[in-house]
Amino acid sequence: MVQKLKLTAKPGKKLTEEVVTELVGEHALPIIGFLKGKTKISEFIIAEELEMEINETRNILYKLLEHNIVSFIRKKDRIKGWYICYWDFNDHMIPQLHRKLHVQKLEKMESRLTKEQSATFYLCNNACSRMDFDKAMEFTFKCPECGGLMSQQDNARTIQFLEGKIVELKKLVAVKQ
Ligand SMILES: [Zn+2]
Repeated sequence: MVQKLKLTAKPGKKLTEEVVTELVGEHALPIIGFLKGKTKISEFIIAEELEMEINETRNILYKLLEHNIVSFIRKKDRIKGWYICYWDFNDHMIPQLHRKLHVQKLEKMESRLTKEQSATFYLCNNACSRMDFDKAMEFTFKCPECGGLMSQQDNARTIQFLEGKIVELKKLVAVKQ
């Protein structure tokens, strides 16, 4: 099988949207959509074109900047005398951020799995609370929410679910992007 050289490939729209939404939020998508394919766009232009307040625009840009999804250069406006930031969308960052997200999810799932495997859980019969043995004993096996009885939960299915997710995520993380 011929492996495609992906180093210079642009990330797809779906991948970009997934990463931006997860890291910053859906509200950042219009800015990314606008910056895509352009270079060094003034924040005032972004705000104007997207009909957003300049402060709101900057807030989102700074949040994107925290993840290196965008970058900027500052230039003094010769006429107005103040500094303006010109922004770029760093599309090359998307694949590695995507991978990082998967790695974080994998770590979270793995620690959840360890917890599920090492403890016995108690569930309220009305399903309003769930806790480990020590906590349940503290409440004398009565639900702190409704006062109902709590009984030991068979978490085999939860463990199975987590194990499946972990296999899936490990595959995704192993793929070179
Ligand atoms: Zn309850």
